[in-house]
Formats: sequence, C-alpha cells, structure tokens
Amino acid sequence: MSMLQKQAFCPSCRRPTLHQKANAEQNKTFTTGHAILSVFTCGLWIPIAIAWAIWHGMTLGTQKYHCTQCGHAS
Ligand SMILES: [Zn+2]
Repeated sequence: MSMLQKQAFCPSCRRPTLHQKANAEQNKTFTTGHAILSVFTCGLWIPIAIAWAIWHGMTLGTQKYHCTQCGHAS
C-alpha cells in the first residue's frame, strides 16, 4: 500500500515534521471489483459489497495523517 506524505506542524513535536497516511486511492480499485463481482453473481454479491462499503466507510473516517517522528495523529 502506498503512503501519502505531507509536511505539517506537529503540536506534539512543536515543529514541522513529515506526516503520512495510507493512500485511500486503492479503495476505488476495490469498488470497481465489487461492481464486476455483482454483475457476475447476478446481484448476489451486492449485500457483501454494501457491508464492505459500510465497513470501509467507518475505517476511512478514522484515517488521519500521523507524525513520522512521534506518531501523533493530526
Ligand atoms: Zn510529532
């Protein structure tokens, strides 16, 4: 998984540090995969895809940039 990086001020380190988080771009590929699976299974996959979307909607909301020096979430 690729990481997104940015320079940001860390309140914990009290100086600008490098922050990084997981790249959410990969999820778009998964969404396309679910769409294809739904077609191939005549819609049987849709409930699984919805459950997946809800689960990832929750985890995506918790994705934050973390300071690479102290781990502080910005
Ligand atoms: Zn820090």
